[in-house]
Amino acid sequence: MKIAGGCYCGEIRFEAEGALEAAFQCHCRECQYITGGNPNIVMVFAQRDFRYISGNPAKFARTDLPTPVERYFCQDCGTAIGSISPSRPNSMIVKVGTLDDPSVFTAKAAIFTCDQQSFHHVPEGLPSFDKRPPKKS
Ligand SMILES: [Zn+2]
Ligand SMILES: [Zn+2]
Repeated sequence: MKIAGGCYCGEIRFEAEGALEAAFQCHCRECQYITGGNPNIVMVFAQRDFRYISGNPAKFARTDLPTPVERYFCQDCGTAIGSISPSRPNSMIVKVGTLDDPSVFTAKAAIFTCDQQSFHHVPEGLPSFDKRPPKKS
């Protein structure tokens, strides 16, 4: 599939074209900070299938963690674009709110429901995992 998106102020634009590796909602406490309280809604592409067309996102990674997630965001408007996780080092995890058409998203799973809040919505019948789903072999 092909997607395009960018940040709220328009400085950063990106596109991705290739196989969708995963699509999920993450309820972890860290994601709640980044989204403002809700789960993160993300689509995952191979890094080689993702590219920035304009703008230079700033990067944040916690220095107090041994293998932190790298978080990319617009330094002008603050929109969180996506992240690269040590658990998926060759993938770009794109935040669906940055897509030109977020309606292309369908959740395949809810993860880290150990941190789910009462005001988080998990669609009926969606596979849910306390932490991460078991790795496919
Ligand atoms: Zn921006
Ligand atoms: Zn999370």
